[in-house]
Amino acid sequence: MRLLSFGENGSSVAVLCHDQTVVDISGAIPDSWERSRGLMRAVISNFESLRGGIEKLASEGNGVPLDSLTLTAPVPDPSKIVAAPVNYLDHMTEMNQASHIDSLGVFLKAPSSLIGHRGTVRLPYSDRRFDQEGELCFVISRQARNVKADNAFDYIFGFSIALDITMRGGEDRSTRKSFDTFTPMGPWILTSDEINSLADLQLRCWVNDELRQQAKISQLIWGVPELLEYVSSVMTLLPGDIISTGTPAGVGPIDSGDVIVAEVSEIGRLKVHVSDQGATLSVTKGAATGALGLQGMKQS
Ligand code: MN
Repeated sequence: MRLLSFGENGSSVAVLCHDQTVVDISGAIPDSWERSRGLMRAVISNFESLRGGIEKLASEGNGVPLDSLTLTAPVPDPSKIVAAPVNYLDHMTEMNQASHIDSLGVFLKAPSSLIGHRGTVRLPYSDRRFDQEGELCFVISRQARNVKADNAFDYIFGFSIALDITMRGGEDRSTRKSFDTFTPMGPWILTSDEINSLADLQLRCWVNDELRQQAKISQLIWGVPELLEYVSSVMTLLPGDIISTGTPAGVGPIDSGDVIVAEVSEIGRLKVHVSDQGATLSVTKGAATGALGLQGMKQS
């Protein structure tokens, strides 16, 4: 099942039908849920009771065209976004990093950085380098603390695609990756039951039709179960929380006017535009430090 969010603040939820149209399922959510917030966390929290009704709607089709809706991130308001810093060996090499996730642990991105499919990434500064990082991400189904890797799938609601947009330089990761619009996600969540073989999924990412990134999910240093075991040993995870698994080699500069497409086989394709409208000079001075040294400055 493919579930998505749309409308102001993701206050409506929908299912993708077999005929590729979309049916609003917001009316199925219990009235006790606060309607001014995103509804996907309510769907996730009540999924066992909602599932039959949603499946029936999805099988009937006759929805509206996907393109007629303005999508938000599938979970527009998670309690947190957790992300893996260096979780593919080829990315460690390209970044001249001496260590990877088993030394670095994980980091947090601001939930307010989320945008949806067909949204616009807004570059805040005109003098800094910004890169695309295509990633597989997953969504937590129920409260999770100290989960063992063997039981990880009991806590994973589904999978989606994320772009971990990043300013290069020496500032803290939580700064460089948390600007508003720096976490495109979507177009939808594919529920876990529809994933045949996670290890065989292919991640690809293009900028303006140039294929920059290509990897199999089996190349993750910490796979999805190990990542969930670790993250849940650090912090309590809640329904709707997002964990992004890291990016393979091929990150590179993005600029105003670019189109970024990230794809994970079986799941779908996430597409966003890039704009520098309103960009100013960088407030902080980290451009000359960090993993890529001077390359933290924009090359013209
Ligand atoms: Mn990343």
